[in-house]
Amino acid sequence: MSQAVADARSCNVGPVILLGPPGAGKGTQAKRIAESYGVPQISTGDILRANVAAGTDLGRKAKAIIERGELVPDSLVCDMVSARLVEPDSARGFILDGFPRTVAQAEWLDSFLESKVFENQPCSKLRPIVIDFAVDYNSLLRRLTGRRSCPTCGRIYNVYYQPPRVDETCDVDGTKLVTRKDDDEQVVSERLKEYERKTLPLIDYYRAKGRLRVIDGDRDMDAVTRDTLELLSNGNRL
Ligand code: AMP
Repeated sequence: MSQAVADARSCNVGPVILLGPPGAGKGTQAKRIAESYGVPQISTGDILRANVAAGTDLGRKAKAIIERGELVPDSLVCDMVSARLVEPDSARGFILDGFPRTVAQAEWLDSFLESKVFENQPCSKLRPIVIDFAVDYNSLLRRLTGRRSCPTCGRIYNVYYQPPRVDETCDVDGTKLVTRKDDDEQVVSERLKEYERKTLPLIDYYRAKGRLRVIDGDRDMDAVTRDTLELLSNGNRL
């Protein structure tokens, strides 16, 4: 392991919040940051989908809401996140992907990070760094409606930007690719409306607190990753 990688994997990263509309590439970038720093990616969408698949109480409450492209109630999501943030693997920091999504969630998160419940985590003294991935509306539509994934290995494709070699078939294992139910065109338009109504105000919320960093997400994924990692490695906390 190189010294730079070893340093990244032992430092306290603190809370990293990724903002940006659905399809902006938060999940991809979150995975790459998580890998570089050895801290968890906490995706509320993934946790909710896992609950739906497992048929838990939370999953049963969330299923229809997710399928309509609407937001799950704040109280359910905040309870889920608070349980996750006190886990031992979040001690040095974590990447929040898809949370907060409303001003109420952001206010809850601010008070949670300063609360007694969180104070034993070593990264609790670090202020969150908030990164917004800015992406043009039309490319979002293509990214979301073109997204396909392999149910066997989890690899993600896009029929416009990153198609498989054989139509609708995974390059790795030949499985037929699937479309996420909420990537259907009508649901995508509802998800983007929800984003504009409820999540966009977070940009002003964090800008007013002087914490917002904006990265142009309309470039190839590697360029976005380079800028994101550079911003984090500079300890660029406002
Ligand atoms: P995502 O994978 O982040 O696009 O999330 C998929 C769906 O899960 C969203 O469309 C919402 O229905 C739900 N969801 C994920 N995160 C949140 C959140 N922070 N607040 C409310 N609902 C959420």
